[in-house]
Amino acid sequence: MSAAAARWRAVRDEIDAECVAWGRNPADVTLIVVTKFHPASLVDELWNAGARDFGESRHQDAAPKAEELLHRDLNWHFVGQVQSNKARAIARYASTIHSLDRDSVVDALATSDNRVGGFIELNLTDDPGRGGVDSADAMLSLAERIMATETIDLRGVMAVAPQDVDPRDAFARVATLSDILVQAYPNANAISAGMSADWKHAIEHGATHLRIGTAITGNRPHSG
Ligand SMILES: *Cc1c(COP(=O)(O)O)cnc(C)c1O
Repeated sequence: MSAAAARWRAVRDEIDAECVAWGRNPADVTLIVVTKFHPASLVDELWNAGARDFGESRHQDAAPKAEELLHRDLNWHFVGQVQSNKARAIARYASTIHSLDRDSVVDALATSDNRVGGFIELNLTDDPGRGGVDSADAMLSLAERIMATETIDLRGVMAVAPQDVDPRDAFARVATLSDILVQAYPNANAISAGMSADWKHAIEHGATHLRIGTAITGNRPHSG
């Protein structure tokens, strides 16, 4: 087993233990290995070890990798900012887009031939330039538009914990916004939160999809 595959196994075991510690069912938590900037060969290595969910953040890197691995039965999760003019191309390989944050992206996906699962990205920073909706109202109005879009299945909310706050506070806020969304749309109960440094806190606050990169892949070949 490769070093990355061994780390994947170890992280999955830790996730299962953490779920049990919080009284949660490990089967309710999907581990997405974020393989951005890594070659398709790493995805293949992890696939051979049993991993099936992979995350990418840039279309121009993800598309050729998805093409190279077309023979593999796996799920691509798109976790980066989506440009409206790339949305349909992303939907061709991605099973799920975690970063829906504005009408134009939803409208572009409405004309797609491919169905995708969709998460509404929440902006937990004070910087309006960051991706994500920044209020419960904005979340609900985007949710309404997504619900009216036949090609998107609304799954829930997604967030990245800001660097300068306690991740527990960040994920508590995500849980609160998730509750508001679920009141309106009971099936949109998934929470995509938690990365290499903070995933344990995310499990405590109800995360159903963890997006973990470096703790499994090792350092990225180049950052971005
Ligand atoms: C890169 C990335 C991750 C994974 O980050 P790590 O710190 O390497 O685990 C998760 N989510 C998003 C949106 C990312 O861009």
